[in-house]
Amino acid sequence: MGQGRRVVLFPYPLQGHINPMLQLANILHTKGFSITMIHTNYNSLNSSHYPQFTFHSIFDGVSETEASKLDTIDLIALINLRCETPFKDCLAKLLSDNSEEPIACLISDPTFHFVQGVTDTLHLPKFVLRTSGVLSFLAFAAFPLLRERGYLPIQDSHLEEAVPELPPLQVKELPVIDARDPDAFYQLVSGIVNEGKTSSGIIWNSIEELETLALATLHQDFSIPMFPIGPFHKYFPAASSSSSSLLAQDQTCISWLNRQQPKSVVYVSFGSIAAISDTEFLEIAWGLAYSKQPFLWVIRPGLIHGSEWLEPLPKGFLDNVGGKGHIVKWAPQLEVLAHPAVGAFWTHNGWNSTLESICEGIPMICMPFFTDQKVNAKYVTHVWRVGLKVGNMGLERGDVERTIRKIMVENEGMEIRERMLNLKEKVNVCLKQGGSSHQALERLVSYILHLH
Ligand code: UDP
Repeated sequence: MGQGRRVVLFPYPLQGHINPMLQLANILHTKGFSITMIHTNYNSLNSSHYPQFTFHSIFDGVSETEASKLDTIDLIALINLRCETPFKDCLAKLLSDNSEEPIACLISDPTFHFVQGVTDTLHLPKFVLRTSGVLSFLAFAAFPLLRERGYLPIQDSHLEEAVPELPPLQVKELPVIDARDPDAFYQLVSGIVNEGKTSSGIIWNSIEELETLALATLHQDFSIPMFPIGPFHKYFPAASSSSSSLLAQDQTCISWLNRQQPKSVVYVSFGSIAAISDTEFLEIAWGLAYSKQPFLWVIRPGLIHGSEWLEPLPKGFLDNVGGKGHIVKWAPQLEVLAHPAVGAFWTHNGWNSTLESICEGIPMICMPFFTDQKVNAKYVTHVWRVGLKVGNMGLERGDVERTIRKIMVENEGMEIRERMLNLKEKVNVCLKQGGSSHQALERLVSYILHLH
């Protein structure tokens, strides 16, 4: 379909943004488009895994050491600052190169908030790929209003109040983060919304059936085309996520899972950014141990504040749980969630993890940390009703134990599992011929081909 046209993609260099952008590149490639990736040298992509794409690296000069000293918001601000000029130079050069297929458009991540300015100057149509859900974006778009009406900054005395402008959210679920510089966060959010609003269209790794209300509201508020074409990772059922993984995935997970009973294991992972204190870490560890369920736990280096890796784990912990626990630094998550031994996913509710869990029909234990994770967890517990929240009153081992047992062995867990299987079916239909995502992708491809 897209033969003879090139699409340039510009992923944001964090794991939860890289995975869906590379998946989108694969999707468009199967539709006949040639693909060029522009990527930063910070968290650089491994081009050898994608011989079918062309890669151009831009120099941002952000080192691991520099990045490790910053909070996420300051890091994002720095990357934005350092990337604008090299990105513009790189794109201008690509546009003036006549030896390749003509470039139809750019697809960028709106976390880069300078891109629209560049593409306006270069007269190139630009789409954005939003790697989170629609409702959290609507909440971002409402930030000026929420600040005006006093919902933001959040005050402890209002946490339980509903936000009627954004059903079904309560104040405590608004997508904020404890940033060193709150203004930098508000600026980032406004930049993300602006990149979306001014683009030729927004591509979502989401699904019409999951976010019907939010999409309808967005259609009213934004006069640009929307393309909910997710879940991206399901376009290629056999594909793994190892090719876009920044950390090495520990394959011992799979041989360990092979030795467990069907649906018996709690898979625990809080994604690539969230971090916990050593006190929280111990409550999780003892809660898992007391639950007596087997667990596969991803403890990324840096997950525990102030520790390199497993130092706070009590000596002999894994021996004491009698072989019921397996700890790794990073897992092949898609393969883990698809494994028959996995019965629940204790997650931070990053959007990718949430979608990946739904697609495999795995009930969730929700422990959101910040921004869209809080919105996604609300969907899981109150809208789709396919999971339970843990740590409502602070993380405590007794609560952890009870929540795990509820989801794994009690009636409530059975009901959740049944709803989750229905949801999984519904979602998996959307990629089939005539399904909502299938149709949205056809629209996107035709839209790109008719740009001039
Ligand atoms: N992931 C993985 N191995 C792990 C943990 C996570 O491959 O041990 C992948 C996961 O499949 C997902 C991504 O990393 O695609 C994390 O994205 P998400 O949006 O869930 O969270 P973030 O890391 O952005 O907070």
